[in-house]
Amino acid sequence: MNNSKTFFAVTIDPLHIGAGGYRLGRVDNTIVREPGSGLPKLPGTSISGVCRNYAIYGLENGDKDKAEKCAMGKDLDPKEKNNCGQCVICKTFGYANGKTQKSQIGKVKFFDGTITAFPVSTLAGPVWVTTASILKGLGQENVKEPGREELFINFDLPGQKKDKQKLNLGWLYLPCKKKDFSLPDEAKNGPGAEIAKRLVVAPEWLFPEIVNANLEVRTSVSIDFETGAADSGKLFTYEAIPRAALVQFDVVVDEYRCATDPDADKVWNIVQKGMALFEPLGLGGMNTRGFGRLKVLNLESNGGQ
Ligand SMILES: [Zn+2]
Repeated sequence: MNNSKTFFAVTIDPLHIGAGGYRLGRVDNTIVREPGSGLPKLPGTSISGVCRNYAIYGLENGDKDKAEKCAMGKDLDPKEKNNCGQCVICKTFGYANGKTQKSQIGKVKFFDGTITAFPVSTLAGPVWVTTASILKGLGQENVKEPGREELFINFDLPGQKKDKQKLNLGWLYLPCKKKDFSLPDEAKNGPGAEIAKRLVVAPEWLFPEIVNANLEVRTSVSIDFETGAADSGKLFTYEAIPRAALVQFDVVVDEYRCATDPDADKVWNIVQKGMALFEPLGLGGMNTRGFGRLKVLNLESNGGQ
């Protein structure tokens, strides 16, 4: 297995990775965004942190015992909890031991996750919106940038004349042309296969507008912790990446910190077992409200060995 890999994943539930209580317009709990584009992102630190927690479940025997003691802080100084520096999780993901003052960065680095294709419902059914630069970044070299107010599609619009096709994306109603493009094979597993068949390439300038206009915004009630009942005076709104969004994130295994290839294989194995649990256990906020399950599409079941 290479020392870096792009993973693709589909949101099974809405995904809320909170920006930390910022209020934006009518939304109380906003999600993390890329500062430049305003596009939602999945911070690499969030992906890494959750992967680290779940990776323990994939360990065996002595490795697992040590890592569990570390995570629970058993027989450790409180300053060493989660950071013993001895267990395979600390060695893989890094640690900062507050007692011994020793620290080490991990053998694996997670980069921020970004949107690859974003689901929007249209009169012609669900489509997934992306851009020429995203697809080019994935090796789809033949994709061109559409005109300023034009869309490219890779599917048929039944009942429309080929030279006068139009598609609505929410409030937008734009002319579109059919072109030949798709997703890379690694993104076409499971739900990725359907997404790849119904892609829309939007102009670069319009993509953040489309994404932000189609995020989930929900209202919920706070629970009064004393009575356990809904506190009707405390409605709050939160936004989330909707279900069926295709996202991607890069993971790099540091070859310098892996003395041998089997070391690197072991790291990939640990990391991928952690990521396999993103689907049943979820990530991000409001997990207990049915949020956050994420299916990683291109895990290698043997962990790269
Ligand atoms: Zn540890």
